[in-house]
Amino acid sequence: MNTAEAAEILVAGTGPAGMIAALALADAGFDVVLAGPAPTHEDRRTTALMLPALTLMERLGLAEGLKAEAAPLKTMRIIDATSRLVRSPVITFRSSEIGEDAFGYNIPNTHLVRQLEKAVMERPGISWRKELVRQWHMAADTVEAEMEGEDRISARLAVAADGRLSPARTAAGIRAFTRDRRQSALVLNFSHARDHAGISTEFHTETGPFTQVPLPGKRSSLVWVARPGTARELLALDDGDLSRRIEEKMQSMLGRVEVEPGRQIYPLSSALPMRFARDRVALVGEAAHVFPPIGAQGLNLGIRDIEDLVAVARLDRNDPGSAHVLWRYDAKRRPDIMARSTAVNMLNMSLLSDFLPAQLLRTAGLSVIGNLAPVRSFFMREGMRPGSGWKNLFSDLRKEVRR
Ligand SMILES: Cc1cc2nc3c(=O)[nH]c(=O)nc-3n(C[C@H](O)[C@H](O)[C@H](O)COP(=O)(O)OP(=O)(O)OC[C@H]3O[C@@H](n4cnc5c(N)ncnc54)[C@H](O)[C@@H]3O)c2cc1C
Repeated sequence: MNTAEAAEILVAGTGPAGMIAALALADAGFDVVLAGPAPTHEDRRTTALMLPALTLMERLGLAEGLKAEAAPLKTMRIIDATSRLVRSPVITFRSSEIGEDAFGYNIPNTHLVRQLEKAVMERPGISWRKELVRQWHMAADTVEAEMEGEDRISARLAVAADGRLSPARTAAGIRAFTRDRRQSALVLNFSHARDHAGISTEFHTETGPFTQVPLPGKRSSLVWVARPGTARELLALDDGDLSRRIEEKMQSMLGRVEVEPGRQIYPLSSALPMRFARDRVALVGEAAHVFPPIGAQGLNLGIRDIEDLVAVARLDRNDPGSAHVLWRYDAKRRPDIMARSTAVNMLNMSLLSDFLPAQLLRTAGLSVIGNLAPVRSFFMREGMRPGSGWKNLFSDLRKEVRR
């Protein structure tokens, strides 16, 4: 067998999380080997990246290129479209309420991935091995990846960005609680007669969210979460019928709808590992958390994984995979990942459940958010970056009481 090539950090996985991790770690001065096949550019989803995530993209020199094909998200609205006994009022979050022009930008994944791929290829300090890791070998002071082409790469730290099934996570002995949600997301883009004015609308339905997100021009992306059988039926409809179903579901708020070619279905699941790092392996992106697409949280949370990982790796430049670095990473990520996963899964379950107390709780929670400006501001800030809401909450509440 060949002798192992030595790297400081090995990033496994060439989805968005893996490529962003490689770029951010190289930017922090580490020598990085990125392992994984070239992306296929077939992902028709779009990703709403919030301002804090875009700040990292800016630092990596990517923000302008990404915004070129993206649309700003100025307003986010939640409409309870269930036919349940208790329903919550319409909730509108305006970025102007927290002094921002937009919460973030909605970027087609094909564009996001192309920009990341180009940056990875141009960035000094990243060596890209375009093949899968076949097997992992863990030792006390290194981790070794056996590649499909039989080369071996050893590193002080392995970053597992290898997706929801994460072979690196399994090799490190980290168990994950996983759950098939028995829901699927139909994703597509469509054009519409009326201007969206930068407004994204999430309709809450009995089978999950139905979310329209602005794209440049009079176009939007759609994530329609439904039972798997319904999603398959929708996928098979002709363009005219599907366009009518979407317009109907949106109560014609954007006028006449025309779906664009290219529909895909994503089966939904949840996964939560018991730890976020162990044995020289740190989990980022979907290797560290999977939940249904509500409130555009997934990759934004993945980017916070990467920011925290870079911060703790800098603490020990000679050994970024040491036990104390990984312990700090686990401790830093735990509250954020647990809070987001729990909130999204509970909101999703409360939509599906016929249990009246669950309905009441969801409605009461959403009503408080909708009616109290300081609470709304708190959630808007927390939605973008954890901890940032608390800074203004008490002064906002005092102002509200005086009013
Ligand atoms: C319908 C839908 C809409 C969404 N919308 C949003 C949104 O608006 N905003 C948001 O923030 N998030 C959103 N998300 C979540 C977001 O898409 C995910 O968080 C993100 O795509 C995960 O990226 P990743 O790189 O972690 O995983 P993946 O994209 O799954 O990448 C994993 C990579 O690992 C590679 N790999 C696997 N095994 C190996 C191996 N042995 N060796 C090397 N490589 C390997 C794979 O080839 C793949 O390239 C959405 C999700 C869904 C389902």
